[in-house]
Amino acid sequence: MPSATAKLIVVVLDGLRYDAARKYMGYMEHLAEQGEAICVRVRSELPSLSRPLYEVLLTGTPAAKNGITANHVARLSRERSVFRLAADAGMRTAAAAYHWVSELYNAAPFNPLSDRHQHDEEKPIQHGIFYFEDHYPDSHLFADAEHLRRAHDPHFLYVHSMNIDDAGHKSGGESAQYERAVRAADGMLASLVPEWLALGYRILVTSDHGMSASGQHGGTAAEERSVPLYLLGDARLLLQEAGVEADAMPQLRMAPLMCRCLGIAPPAAMTGSAVVAFPASVSS
Ligand SMILES: [Zn+2]
Repeated sequence: MPSATAKLIVVVLDGLRYDAARKYMGYMEHLAEQGEAICVRVRSELPSLSRPLYEVLLTGTPAAKNGITANHVARLSRERSVFRLAADAGMRTAAAAYHWVSELYNAAPFNPLSDRHQHDEEKPIQHGIFYFEDHYPDSHLFADAEHLRRAHDPHFLYVHSMNIDDAGHKSGGESAQYERAVRAADGMLASLVPEWLALGYRILVTSDHGMSASGQHGGTAAEERSVPLYLLGDARLLLQEAGVEADAMPQLRMAPLMCRCLGIAPPAAMTGSAVVAFPASVSS
């Protein structure tokens, strides 16, 4: 049985670049200033595109191995995801996320009429609420996630918003609209994170990729690749014990970090797990 403390919430704010997080996310930076959170810079894998990086975040494998090389590769993942590993370990899993996450781990292609709400304990994502418009309000997305948490008490809850990315594509990564979307997401975290922390969750807040001033990503520029990772609650201990420095952490380490937060040994296929020798467990 999973330990009672092994509960993890991962928040992925799609398209959030590192410098914007550090400048505009006043609540998250307050937690960092108070020692309640640690923020490190993560260097995204390539290509710095959404669907390939969802697969990187959740399987710890590079695109050259997992085959999710472009946004149009709309098929189920062939790798063992953190969802699958957690479910196999007897944990409950849930996600409030963009429909591509459902296509990678539950069912492809996505059918909006049948796949928006999913409840199937045989699937890697046992409880899912998936949206399929990039302008689906982040406020609703966070409400979906909190509903899943309260209704199903998942050990692993994945929360994935899209409005920051959407604003970046429409107006650019240095626009007032982009800045507003980042600040709004920070405000939503401010209303949920205190309760999550009080309940003992480990929390990771990160992004898949950044955003150029011209509203693009996919390439190698720092503004497209540099994203933040905030570690909250006991998740902080894992980073400190792993000895990760405050400069760029390879994104392939995210999936093994999620596994460690859940008390699961990362499988050998997770490339990042070989990079750093994590402590055997912090929950024991
Ligand atoms: Zn995008």
